[in-house]
Amino acid sequence: MKIETQVLHEGYSPKNGEPRVMPIYQSTTYVYNSTDAVADVFDDPTLGMIYSRFENPTTDAVEKKIAALEGGAAAMCTSSGQAASMLSILNICDAGDHFISSSSIYGGTVNLFAFTFKKMGIECTFIDVDASEEEIKAAIKPNTKCIFGETIANPALTVLDIEKWASAAHSAGIPLIVDNTFATPVLCRPIEWGADIVVHSTSKYMDGHAVQVGGVIVDSGKFDWKASGRFPGLTEPDESYHGIVYTEKYPAAPYIIKARMQLMRDFGCYPAANSSFLLNLGLETLAVRMPKYCENGLAVAKFIESTGKVTSIRYAGLESDPYHALAEKYLPNGVCGVISFSVKGGRKTAVKFMDALKLASNEVHVADIRTCVLNPASATHRQLTEEQLIAAGIDPGMIRFSVGLENVNDIIEDLKQAFSVI
Ligand SMILES: *Cc1c(COP(=O)(O)O)cnc(C)c1O
Repeated sequence: MKIETQVLHEGYSPKNGEPRVMPIYQSTTYVYNSTDAVADVFDDPTLGMIYSRFENPTTDAVEKKIAALEGGAAAMCTSSGQAASMLSILNICDAGDHFISSSSIYGGTVNLFAFTFKKMGIECTFIDVDASEEEIKAAIKPNTKCIFGETIANPALTVLDIEKWASAAHSAGIPLIVDNTFATPVLCRPIEWGADIVVHSTSKYMDGHAVQVGGVIVDSGKFDWKASGRFPGLTEPDESYHGIVYTEKYPAAPYIIKARMQLMRDFGCYPAANSSFLLNLGLETLAVRMPKYCENGLAVAKFIESTGKVTSIRYAGLESDPYHALAEKYLPNGVCGVISFSVKGGRKTAVKFMDALKLASNEVHVADIRTCVLNPASATHRQLTEEQLIAAGIDPGMIRFSVGLENVNDIIEDLKQAFSVI
């Protein structure tokens, strides 16, 4: 099936007389006929549902759908994008381990990697998104367990050269994890370019309507954990789960089974069934919405560039953008609706400009169906130091403009009147 069909039909096929739409299974638990039947699902959790702290039929259908959209083997939803990023790393990094990340990633993820993981004994080395393959390889140590990057970085809007980062990772027998939030599988499927694990904040385009915070981790099922030799957590018996060897018992997607039966069981950051139902509604129109975001985004980016009132603009769909060539390779159908730019006059003028906008709302969100705007340095990236802001490609006066699905002329009119104020 092509992606327009997959978003509607993957994950749930009602049988004779069953509901057309996947129902909300609002139940914490699942009933079995005997104690032995319960014991069987504990022995092999793929046989049935155990408890809604880590699995639920409504969420399961969404997981299957997203796995299919990304071309992965299995997926696990989480209660937020942050939880997805956190578990994607904790599933393969223990205290004393190290991993590498592109420095051009979401601010919340920088904080998680640089500070919170550090307190847990996991060290992250940040590397420039444009580093050469040799530079990336040089940062890999004996205890390095994975490499992390973002397809289209929020808010720097750099484009990750996925093949290069995957090649560096695979040369050392470690997986590449890609945060594909801004691209969505409609615009880019990182697994096809060599990524092993894909994560998302589904709160953005996937949900699409700003109604539900969520996340997901997708396992490509392609990484050879055994050959790598670096992952005893997957290739040796798990004492916390009666001695299961994940790669042996679940060769199709051992990473996701481990994440669910170990981490999700213990941490419980699983979405409620109602949340997954809403996420699914958003997913059903994802393939129709993404091209429109790209079309509106490009028109708005061209307009902003033409005003002569900005010192810089980032939108990889523009021919003048340094990431245009990478976008043509990895995102041939468009680069989403998020634009970042800096107005002449720095942060003060940026604030004046943003406050003058009428249609675009000032909110801590991005990739919404409605146009919205944010100054990352004052909001999402407020916790970063000046150096970290620069490393993440964020100028303090930068405006992140997320183009919605309104009529593009209305969005441009709003920008025009705000530009006239500064
Ligand atoms: C928003 C975002 C996150 C965090 O997701 P939440 O759902 O807000 O927890 C992670 N990565 C990217 C690229 C994001 O835009």
